[in-house]
Amino acid sequence: MGHVLEKVLADACARWMRLRGDEVRFQTGADEHGVKIQQTADREKLTPKELVDRNVPLFQDLYTRLQISADVFVRTSDKKAHWPTVIELWKKLRDAGALQKRTYAGLYCSGCERFVTVKDLANGLCPDHKIPPQEVKEENWFFLLSAEQRWLAHLLQNEYLIIPEFRAKETLMLLESGLADVSFSRPKSSLSWGVPVPGDEDQTMYVWCDALTNYISGLGFFTDHENAQWWNEGEVTHVIGKDIARFHALIWPAMLKNANVRPPDRLLIHGFLTSEGEKMSKTTGNVVAPDDVISKYGVDALRFFLAHEIPVGNDGDFSWKRFGELYDAKMRNQLGNLLNRVLVLLKKEGGYVKIPEGSKDVSRTSEEWKAFAGKMDAFDLNAGIQQAFGLVSASPRSAAWRSHFVMSPFFCCRLSQGPRIRSAGSSTSRTRRRCSEKILQSRQK
Ligand SMILES: [Zn+2]
Repeated sequence: MGHVLEKVLADACARWMRLRGDEVRFQTGADEHGVKIQQTADREKLTPKELVDRNVPLFQDLYTRLQISADVFVRTSDKKAHWPTVIELWKKLRDAGALQKRTYAGLYCSGCERFVTVKDLANGLCPDHKIPPQEVKEENWFFLLSAEQRWLAHLLQNEYLIIPEFRAKETLMLLESGLADVSFSRPKSSLSWGVPVPGDEDQTMYVWCDALTNYISGLGFFTDHENAQWWNEGEVTHVIGKDIARFHALIWPAMLKNANVRPPDRLLIHGFLTSEGEKMSKTTGNVVAPDDVISKYGVDALRFFLAHEIPVGNDGDFSWKRFGELYDAKMRNQLGNLLNRVLVLLKKEGGYVKIPEGSKDVSRTSEEWKAFAGKMDAFDLNAGIQQAFGLVSASPRSAAWRSHFVMSPFFCCRLSQGPRIRSAGSSTSRTRRRCSEKILQSRQK
């Protein structure tokens, strides 16, 4: 469900941007390398490649059924589409003097598949996996992140917008506490399932240079089929979970800077989903499979629940009871009834409904649309949906309203007729830029 929350959020953003008239390229993908995959494959007597080739299509199939409107699906094990960009990026970082080989002694959490520091631990254990980290001593290539501290502080305060705001503050505090250099490779003996380091084949790239790079490998960066205008001339928004937020906020822009690529414009960080008030885990047995929900309520209801219930950035809870209540109250009673009445009306009028001029409902709908658009532009999806439902629920089932409705049927036609809505909501990239500047400025105050 965690994956689904993220994909639905990204998809809702992409659909909103398309609706307001933007050209949108929506990329997603799978991070397929790492020790965990290697170990699972060993247990199942498969090669890592066989394992990911079996599992990743299951995710792709789920996303297709969820109607995730992605244009590109990047697989990090794809040697043709992904690796060339990764290898070129590594070379650029090396040539810029941003990489250095060192002997490293540190703590490694096999659950997180990354090096951790004492600061990350709670009572000596990884707070996420409740296991002690292993002490590891090995040769690693390091990315010199500590050198970028001042540049990153400036970037985060002025250009790279983190949503929600409390995550931006958290990241700045992390930055103030000082940045350490980051392990960027591991010896092949510890990690063999990954991209080999160019010029040092006994080392395998660690997740950062490999997986973060999917954002630009999907655009063919540093290859003969580079499609860079999406990145260079558009607005770039990354949608990710809170567990990997700081790597996207700090390591990724610093990597791009050293490769002479501009940083993304914003980072939209979502929280986690609990189940019936508790952390979802196989041990607790409270894991909700997306297919359980889809088979009972359908794809639209699941998408609606996630977008309506979970304020972007916060953790949210999945509860069957709440799902049922929301389904009945909003989807069946409010939206369903409205749709039915519009259909009845359309049938009665022979499929054509005349929109009366000058009705006060025209201005109301226009005002509501502006408020909705403002919330969607600010990535405040659940507030946007609630705004839209203000209009849906402004149709009480009284006789007075029914007659009013019949008198001014444009109300619903506006909801269903695309072009008028689009013209009300479209905005240029310049006005959008101003919008994000406004958020930044108000935060600096
Ligand atoms: Zn861990």
